[in-house]
Amino acid sequence: MHHLTEEQINELKAILLEMRRKLIESAEQQIKDPSNVVFEGGDEIDRADMETDRFITFRIRGREAKLIHKIDYALMKIEMGNYGICENCGTEIPYERLKARPVTTMCIKCKELEEEMEND
Ligand SMILES: [Zn+2]
Repeated sequence: MHHLTEEQINELKAILLEMRRKLIESAEQQIKDPSNVVFEGGDEIDRADMETDRFITFRIRGREAKLIHKIDYALMKIEMGNYGICENCGTEIPYERLKARPVTTMCIKCKELEEEMEND
């Protein structure tokens, strides 16, 4: 990641750590407050019996856990020194893109190709 300065890396790292902190905080609140869980569940509210509530709670936790995992992965890559390199084609991902989406592991071109399969 020679295209990034130490200052830029530190800034991206701070963004990632802040994202991680907020995710854990909101996940904890959602688990504590059942009304948030139902709200996040959207159109599945009409079947909001006990079983459905539990299902939605798990889904939120799963989605947030997935993002937390992505953040951890990005932080690990920073430590290893290969952060900001597209995992698909090896292109250096511009700082502006990393700042907008610090968990990204692909350049814009590769991401666009993948977009139809996985909405990220
Ligand atoms: Zn690429």
